[in-house]
Amino acid sequence: MADEQQLSYEEALEKVLSFGERMPAEEIDFMDSLGRVLAEDVLSDIDVAPFDNSAMDGFAVIASDLEGASEENPVTLDVIELIAAGDAPVQAVKSGQAARIMTGAAMPEGADSVVKLEFTNAYKTDLGQAGQTVQIMAPVEKGANVRYAGEEVKAGGVVVPAGEEIGVATIGLFAATGNTKVKVYRRPVVGIVATGSELVDVDEKPGPGQIRNSNSYANAAQAMSAGADVIIYPVVEDTYEATLEVFKEASEECDLIVTSGGVSVGDFDFVRPALETLGEVEFAKVNMRPGNPQTMGHIGKAILFGLPGNPSSCYVGFEAFLRPLIRKMLGYKDLARPIVKAKLAVGQSKRQPRRYFLRGNVVKDEQGEYVANLDYSQSSALLTAAHYANAFIILPEGVGYVEKDTLVDCWLLDVEESGGIF
Ligand code: AMP
Ligand code: MG
Repeated sequence: MADEQQLSYEEALEKVLSFGERMPAEEIDFMDSLGRVLAEDVLSDIDVAPFDNSAMDGFAVIASDLEGASEENPVTLDVIELIAAGDAPVQAVKSGQAARIMTGAAMPEGADSVVKLEFTNAYKTDLGQAGQTVQIMAPVEKGANVRYAGEEVKAGGVVVPAGEEIGVATIGLFAATGNTKVKVYRRPVVGIVATGSELVDVDEKPGPGQIRNSNSYANAAQAMSAGADVIIYPVVEDTYEATLEVFKEASEECDLIVTSGGVSVGDFDFVRPALETLGEVEFAKVNMRPGNPQTMGHIGKAILFGLPGNPSSCYVGFEAFLRPLIRKMLGYKDLARPIVKAKLAVGQSKRQPRRYFLRGNVVKDEQGEYVANLDYSQSSALLTAAHYANAFIILPEGVGYVEKDTLVDCWLLDVEESGGIF
């Protein structure tokens, strides 16, 4: 692979995703399945609803008995029984009869419709009890207020097909159909490897020339938020041997290895040499800023992605490449964040022809139009802008000044990927 070859963001993402295979399925408890993707059709063992039932409190009747009924000319019917939710009706309704029925109660034989309590003299009175009569002041359409058996799903039918994301309503469907275990794509195991002899761990105070390792933890949080399981490896010192060793170990244990640092052209950058020894490099540069030296390859079955060391380059690279990759491995269809066009609040000068991923905030102005604010330093060494940001403000390739009020693409980072309703 030629050193100078630099991929566009889209080319690089396509390459990354082409290596992202969906994970094998695993069976889990349905109450642990929220947000996962179904690997198998979920079937119902019963009709849902299991029986025809009333959608209202009222009277189960035969619609043709009530033709012409009105307040002036009510129709009087004999009330043969009271059917509450959970009761099994015992009598069939014949012409001239009605059964008093509650919401969710099973429809009695013979009846084809339910008249709401409000249209009878039993409304807010104690009239119309079983054994008495009821006066009905309105006609009813045949089938009105009846919910039929199997409307949601029939016994043996698919209630939720494979490939669907499990949301809160899906959990209700699983419960209604007796599915307490479901098959989902398993979470990929993401190994996090920070490289750098200057790094000390979070619980240490850095000595001269040292800094705390923040990338491992930010990347781990990003991986977890994308739905992955995480292994954080101890920091790797900048030697070829140490890098080789952790890559060997991680490639056995992980589906995806995410490194930070050591991908530039410094004297102590060993990610690429170690990757070349153990596996293959697919690309090592992407036409973007921050984070030009994004490196991708594979060792055996594991994908390895080398993020740059600067904290915000590292953060941007993860969001731009690895979140979509992890989502693909988890079986999601929607991999991209929603994108809106927003007006740049302040002109921006571009000193490099790369695509810029700025960390900013998209807000609505008084006219209801989206505006992109950039209030914090865009230095790739600083993470504070990313903390306050709700969006990546994208400045396209090319050099020069991007004028205030130019419409730019903004990826909404605080909105779930959702098939692009924006
Ligand atoms: P490198 O790509 O290894 O040359 O690192 C670029 C910059 O990012 C240097 O200033 C490093 O000190 C810094 N850096 C590298 N790794 C980390 C890390 N894990 N946490 C915080 N800063 C880092
Ligand atoms: Mg380094």
